[in-house]
Amino acid sequence: MQRITCQLPGGYVDGDGQIRREVVLSPLSGLAEKMVAGRNGAVTAAIVSALLSHGIERIGPIVDISEETARNLLVGDRHFLLLKLREMTFGHAIQAVVTCCRPDCGERLDIDFLTDNIPVIPSPQHSLFYEMRLSREAGGHTVTFRLPNGGDQERLSHLVDGDETMAADQLLARCIRGIGPVCQPAMADIISLPDAAKAEIEREMDRLAPKVGLDMEAVCPECGHTFSPCFDLQEFFLTELNTRLDLLLKEVHYLAYHYHWSEKEILGMTRENRHRYIEILAEEMERMNHAF
Ligand SMILES: [Zn+2]
Repeated sequence: MQRITCQLPGGYVDGDGQIRREVVLSPLSGLAEKMVAGRNGAVTAAIVSALLSHGIERIGPIVDISEETARNLLVGDRHFLLLKLREMTFGHAIQAVVTCCRPDCGERLDIDFLTDNIPVIPSPQHSLFYEMRLSREAGGHTVTFRLPNGGDQERLSHLVDGDETMAADQLLARCIRGIGPVCQPAMADIISLPDAAKAEIEREMDRLAPKVGLDMEAVCPECGHTFSPCFDLQEFFLTELNTRLDLLLKEVHYLAYHYHWSEKEILGMTRENRHRYIEILAEEMERMNHAF
């Protein structure tokens, strides 16, 4: 698998305020797999940032892609890039197992689909900050905000499963730069906002954000219930990549033993190439066995 060039559905705002949409992705190497396996249990969004910094070769003219760069990408752009990296690593077909959401059923069912059927809704960005005017009922103020990015996901991940209101308020506190006369509002300012104001800001953020949709329908064969299974691409891909570390090390050992390559050289290969060499070796040994 070769590197690919793609267009971000949103866009990355660089240090000079320029919007960059062209991204070159290179296939993930064993180093990325080792990193994912080694960070088992860490915050998902943080692993995604590390993984993206491995996979992104450049964004526009920017070639030095750090985890911090990946953190500054919009949530939808990160989703999109992860989807592309998944296609490059394991192909377009996804076979997942979901659970029927009817509490009295809970049947597990297989769903098969192609990543090509996952809708990507672009929203080309034109600046880092946006301005909107709240309705009169919501206070009528002008609000300046930016859209949520990977850094927000990392910082708020511990809240999402717990207190949803708290997580939503903290996200607003991180993204809003000003409301009317208040600059850099504190948490107390956000908490005291009328619900209508929060809803209007969240709606505007959602409207401006690029999205990778995963809305699908499944029918449970056990109870006949139609539901939207919740499929989490990030978790799914990370689990796929998370070959147990000992298996990866065994592959490194096998190749090092026969080819005398260093660990660094072997981990620098893509998974596809590594497995190809292992196959060639296996065929070779099979042939030698038959020769005796
Ligand atoms: Zn069911």
